[in-house]
Amino acid sequence: MEFFPVFLRVSGRQCLVVGAGSTAYRKVNLLLKSKANIVVVSPETNPSMRELADNKRIVFIQKEFAASDVNNYRLVIAATNDYAVNSSVADAANKLDIPVNVVDTPDLSSFIFPAIVERPPLTIAVSSGGSSPVLVRILRERLETLIPARFGALAEFAAHYRELIKRRIPNAPQRRHIWEQILYGPIAELVFAGQQQEAERRLNHVVDAVVPGQRLSGSVALIGAGPGDPELLTLRALRLIQQADIVVYDRLVSPGILELIRRDAEKIYAGKARAQHSMSQETINQLLVRLANQGKQVVRLKGGDPFIFGRGGEEIETLVDEDITFQVVPGITAASGCASYAGIPLTHRDYAQSCVFITGHLQEGCINLDWEHLMVPNQTIVVYMGLIGLPQICKQLIQSGKSAETPIALVEHGTQQDQRVITGTLATLPGIVENAQVSAPTLLIIGDVVRLRDKLAWFKKTL
Ligand code: SAH
Repeated sequence: MEFFPVFLRVSGRQCLVVGAGSTAYRKVNLLLKSKANIVVVSPETNPSMRELADNKRIVFIQKEFAASDVNNYRLVIAATNDYAVNSSVADAANKLDIPVNVVDTPDLSSFIFPAIVERPPLTIAVSSGGSSPVLVRILRERLETLIPARFGALAEFAAHYRELIKRRIPNAPQRRHIWEQILYGPIAELVFAGQQQEAERRLNHVVDAVVPGQRLSGSVALIGAGPGDPELLTLRALRLIQQADIVVYDRLVSPGILELIRRDAEKIYAGKARAQHSMSQETINQLLVRLANQGKQVVRLKGGDPFIFGRGGEEIETLVDEDITFQVVPGITAASGCASYAGIPLTHRDYAQSCVFITGHLQEGCINLDWEHLMVPNQTIVVYMGLIGLPQICKQLIQSGKSAETPIALVEHGTQQDQRVITGTLATLPGIVENAQVSAPTLLIIGDVVRLRDKLAWFKKTL
């Protein structure tokens, strides 16, 4: 992040704008919204700027810029169409460490202007750090359409009741939950619809019903985070992640998904890398119980789907035993995600009428699988946790009767930006993978459907 986003208080402070053309005029108008005391310095002016000066909204000083002009300003903006003047403004301001913006010249600027979406008192600022104004504009337009026009009214409504609710509900987590109830639900809808009085009546009702100091009943949401691409989260997963007090996540949850967690929620890493369990399953089970009993809204976030090789069943069994409220949110399992993003349909009318998911995890050096059972023709086999055991898996499948020419794909970091797909046959893939510096997580897909990838691969094709 080259430019750090902050909101600066400028009301009542002196701000200098050098230049008085149309660009300068636009910036002055923007600054006026924040009630800054604006001084414009320029040897000439345009009529609009002159009018602002005549109406005493700005102070206009008709002169050439000199370095000493920047003294004692909170903020300086260089908006002339002369590069030399602009850079001398920037030099002068930088010498005194006064924030300076040179319009359309991020290189000379110590701060830049974001695009703004306004829902007073809410302000949403968007910046690409100067790299793409067009992208910023597109994003701003999207936000404009996405955020109800009356969102500002909701913010004012919240501001109005903030002190009252703080007094009535001193307990911070309890207060936050009340706010969520107010701002997510029908009360917010009433404010959007302009039915202020009814909204107020209901808000008072909610606040009156709160028993101060009452322990909140906590809950656990066991959520599947999918195979990595954050866009593959379900809407419910996203909503719960953003409401959670605390998120207990495992190694497979991608950084892009962790970014979506509420900033002030606590994050607890629970492992587990192969052979390096950072928390035992029992410790995790007990942790979830303890947190929920403290009244927290807990999210237990797992890679893929929690009920597919995710030990989700064991975790909620403990919750059931302890009588803790919970829900399970399915996620896209690695088999679905990797197959789609690798262009390998798991079933196909011509090649595979069934599909099995198995684990290739080694136990004391061997894989205990019903190999005979895997010989079913026209069946796709998906192997989770099969990287270390790959040579053994291929060997055993051939020994049990599969053709050595059976196609197999290894999908590394499926659905993520660094996804790689390595294909071969049961005979050749272990050798190819040995020299390919592959890292977990990886998934194996075995069967004739793998051949379809030649035609159907789409992800990252255009990158
Ligand atoms: N519950 C998870 C699976 C957990 S077991 C799910 O439903 O996907 C862990 C195994 O999942 C890994 O060893 C790997 O085989 C597979 N896996 C998970 N995410 C993956 C990804 N993004 N790419 C490839 N394989 C993945």
